[in-house]
Amino acid sequence: MSYYVTTPIYYVNAEPHLGHAYTTIAADVLARHMRQRGEDVFFLTGTDEHGEPVTLAAEKLGITPRELGDRHAANFKELAARVNVTNDFFIRTTDPEHAEVVAEVVQRMHDNGHVYAGTYEGWYCPRCADFKTESELDEGNKCPIHGIVVDWEKEDNWFFKLSAFQEPLERLYAERPGFVVPEIRYNEALSFIKGGLRDVSLSRARLKWGVPVPWDESQVIYVWIDALLNYYSALRYARKGEDLTDRFWPADVHLIGKDILKFHAVIWPAMLLAADIEVPRRVGIHGFLLLGEHKMSKSLGNVIDPNQVTDVYGADALRFYLMREVRFGQDGEVSPEGFELRYRNELANEYGNLASRTLAMIARYRDGVVPEAEAPEPLRADFEGLAETVQDRIDALDVSVALDEIWRRVKRLNAYVQEEQPWQLSKDPAESERLDAVLYGAAEGLRTVSVLLHPFMPESAERLLAALGREDRSLETAHFGAVPGGARVGELGQLFPKIEPAAAPAA
Ligand SMILES: [Zn+2]
Repeated sequence: MSYYVTTPIYYVNAEPHLGHAYTTIAADVLARHMRQRGEDVFFLTGTDEHGEPVTLAAEKLGITPRELGDRHAANFKELAARVNVTNDFFIRTTDPEHAEVVAEVVQRMHDNGHVYAGTYEGWYCPRCADFKTESELDEGNKCPIHGIVVDWEKEDNWFFKLSAFQEPLERLYAERPGFVVPEIRYNEALSFIKGGLRDVSLSRARLKWGVPVPWDESQVIYVWIDALLNYYSALRYARKGEDLTDRFWPADVHLIGKDILKFHAVIWPAMLLAADIEVPRRVGIHGFLLLGEHKMSKSLGNVIDPNQVTDVYGADALRFYLMREVRFGQDGEVSPEGFELRYRNELANEYGNLASRTLAMIARYRDGVVPEAEAPEPLRADFEGLAETVQDRIDALDVSVALDEIWRRVKRLNAYVQEEQPWQLSKDPAESERLDAVLYGAAEGLRTVSVLLHPFMPESAERLLAALGREDRSLETAHFGAVPGGARVGELGQLFPKIEPAAAPAA
């Protein structure tokens, strides 16, 4: 089975920030988990480089839009590498191959009778690159997102007959209640559709920075139409000499933030229907990370900067924190104190210490070999159905709940070791069999959670699995008791070392 997951392509008029890291990490968790299940995965991210906001930002810096695109595309690639994601391709809308597909699809929309010449008159925010209705504006004709006074625009351009797709979209939503998740966003998109769809501009007349309209080269294709098509165009040329469209289209999930819901849940499926292309299976929407005012933290200052966190604590800690702190799909607050708390209590103490203690006890009491014993019954019951639940939650894009399910077992293992007190058992030769079972149970539990944690914290999970002498991380091995004892354990070092404030760069 194939699995195709995308992030939005990031707009190159500004530097990458935590929100970009958040979406990209979530997509990577899905991609890595699906690979564990043996799926044929394609994971796409990239940059959106056309349109007015880019030309305006470039002008301000005294460089060309292409130069600005090059600069920021490099930054976004660097961010992806920093947070250790495994995208299969990085698309840029300035790729000539992308432009070809855009022209081809838009031509098809035109030939199918869904495009017409008209005059646009209305409010337009150049920073959003979006047209606004009266009701969408704040007091004084200001863009509610950018706070700037929007322009009254009048120009002849090409229109996409979005209004003609109201019924087809309502039908799509009725047939596929899981088309948009979570449900609150499904309802939001559907009520937008039911409220009546107006046609949208397909091109801009005055702008030069974009893909030319194939039948009217005096205009360029509106940046959103161009950008959305990246999900489809990438499959054509991501692999030289190979067209991956049949293998991966339609996309399984487009992950996006809630601010671009209308484009992905309304305009995008309508465009595809207009061009006789299958619509994606699902659009998954996450909430916003809220960055409130916080007191200074010793190692991170007062904001969470993805570059700094990964420099000081590593990619895994940031990945874990973002997937754990905020319920995926909802808004939630993140803070440096919250990060440090989870790093210390959960990563260092609950997971890291459990791992080092378990390995140390196996080394000391059993000469470094995991005992061959029956899986202890209470633990077996506590792990029953875990892998299935995680799989199920990930399928539902409930990523943070999947992580919570795993973490409950990490806590359970800590409690188990505490209850059984293997260091006491080791003093009594009569308890030898019991000690075997407890050590095997702890090692096997750690192995199981580490396989399941791998998509969230790939580096740490791999290190721990290697130290346990069991490196297989396919999902079918994520069952407690699936792998017998007998492995020789190795060195682990500290998975999540204590960070001294002095080790952190000055804020
Ligand atoms: Zn705006």
